[in-house]
Amino acid sequence: MKKDVVLRTENLKAYYVLEVPGGQKVVRAVDGVDLTIRRNEIYGIAGESGCGKSTLMKTLYAWVQRPLRLVEGTVYYTKDGQEFDVYALSKQELRRLRWQFIAYVPQGAMSIFNPVTKIKETYRDFLSSHLRGKTVEEMFAIAKEHIERLGLPVSILEAYPHQLSGGMRQRVAIALAALLRPSVMFADEPTTALDVVVQRGVVQLLKDIQESLHNTIILVTHDMGIHANVTDRLAIMYAGRIIEEAATEEIFQKPLHPYTQFLINSLPQFGDTGERVSAPGQPPSLAHLPTGCAFHPRCPQAMPICREQVPETAFIGEHRVACWLHAERGAVEHAAHS
Ligand code: SF4
Repeated sequence: MKKDVVLRTENLKAYYVLEVPGGQKVVRAVDGVDLTIRRNEIYGIAGESGCGKSTLMKTLYAWVQRPLRLVEGTVYYTKDGQEFDVYALSKQELRRLRWQFIAYVPQGAMSIFNPVTKIKETYRDFLSSHLRGKTVEEMFAIAKEHIERLGLPVSILEAYPHQLSGGMRQRVAIALAALLRPSVMFADEPTTALDVVVQRGVVQLLKDIQESLHNTIILVTHDMGIHANVTDRLAIMYAGRIIEEAATEEIFQKPLHPYTQFLINSLPQFGDTGERVSAPGQPPSLAHLPTGCAFHPRCPQAMPICREQVPETAFIGEHRVACWLHAERGAVEHAAHS
């Protein structure tokens, strides 16, 4: 176990098992994911809608509820120098872990607020369930100090959720998640449905929190522009698998997987008026994955082996990629380092 690792998975599989007329339908949302996430980094997970990234995040947070099932593998956290399997914890231990160590910002901040209570009361309720022996005044003072420290206007404490803009609600949700100084924070599509200017405020808040707490933030978004601005390392997900991972800068400068190349080439570039090219076709159904490489029906570089065999992951230094185009290079690197 490396000292700076805070979370890791091995061959993690989580499927939705749906009852349908005549049997079951199995949706392979997370299908053999290996991750190693470090302290003091913002780790991004990118990919098109429906690739499994939000399900992966829930699985990492041990938030697996039917019809989602953990099929194989597990999630290991490291806390106080001890590594443990989060799925082996009792309900009480898991609750304590979520209070003290990990926090989750779900998609759509509105869902975490009570529409008929002011933001300061949400803070009070949150604090009273986590801190004992504080008076209401002390809890309001903690809320005020926290909001001020994060550069948010104190007046929001007197507001009801519907009186805040979507961007401000999202920032309050993130602030609330950071209140107990979690070591690991999950943020699931935190900028969805926000305009570009508001997105910047949300992203900056995440960066500020990470810089002040030196914690780990795992950020899921399909928006590659946000990953370019915020994340330290980036994983690209396709059809339930991680198909490429490297330092974010490296991925943007030297994307190896054809799918990642499409994701990056489809981004608008300043001063470049040329046509942007996205990946052809549609992502596959996770209930009916193609054989071999799941990207092969859309890949302009597909070879016969791609239709038959799932590509092995090649490690090229700290860069990993699951594509037959790079299998040999990865093997050479592996041999040179072993
Ligand atoms: Fe394309 Fe083959 Fe690589 Fe898949 S393995 S991305 S089909 S070249």
